[in-house]
Amino acid sequence: YMLSSEPIVSLRNAEVTYDSNFALTATTLQVRRGEKLAIVGKSGAGKSTLLRLLYEKNPDNTALIPQNDGLVETLSVFHNVFMGRLARHSSLYNLCNLMRPFPKRVSEIQAILQHLSLTEKCFIPVASLSGGQRQRTAVARSIYQGGELLLADEPVSAVDEQQSEQILQLLSQHFSTMIVALHDTQLALNCCDRVIGLKDGEIALDKPSDSLSASELKQLYAD
Ligand code: ADP
Repeated sequence: YMLSSEPIVSLRNAEVTYDSNFALTATTLQVRRGEKLAIVGKSGAGKSTLLRLLYEKNPDNTALIPQNDGLVETLSVFHNVFMGRLARHSSLYNLCNLMRPFPKRVSEIQAILQHLSLTEKCFIPVASLSGGQRQRTAVARSIYQGGELLLADEPVSAVDEQQSEQILQLLSQHFSTMIVALHDTQLALNCCDRVIGLKDGEIALDKPSDSLSASELKQLYAD
């Protein structure tokens, strides 16, 4: 019982500075297993910094979707998704799979791509994809990697509204605990059960989605 009630993420008075400027100040945050947490706030508020700090502290059993998506341009969607599990295989296996994909891996990855409308793009280089397709590839890679915790930095910012919600729901099904930076506050309210709002590197708001008002959110984006 003690173990299961232990938070999966715990920060106490954490700070991050860049060139002696604070990007994150005295941040205390606990996230319990099973929570779906959205991080909102204006550009520059510290969302990426907070996610990077959380990943630095919890690299194990955690999938990360970084802001720049971290895809390899010249490789296909298939190979980029496969990278989610590179560490599970030997170098020789990975090299063989790079030259000629193993059918078993292709069918595993196709099963994920299907949910993201990327089936046709499987063997297309990432360099020729649209922004939304790239983001969906990064989502597929995180799902293929798997793990207990997902940390995602604006994973659907280039995807259309309707599809955004579907993708966040798909991620929700695959990761028991999820911490996602989102610029779309409505999406945050619809897809997450708790929202924290950052302002100038501080947590200015921390509430369950169902008790959060539009005016509270608006205040976060004021001035
Ligand atoms: P957000 O993700 O909410 O847009 P960031 O975490 O990217 O915010 O940035 C928080 C603050 O830290 C901003 O003032 C930004 O300019 C600064 N910052 C972020 N990354 C760096 C960096 N590599 N070097 C210097 N300053 C940075």
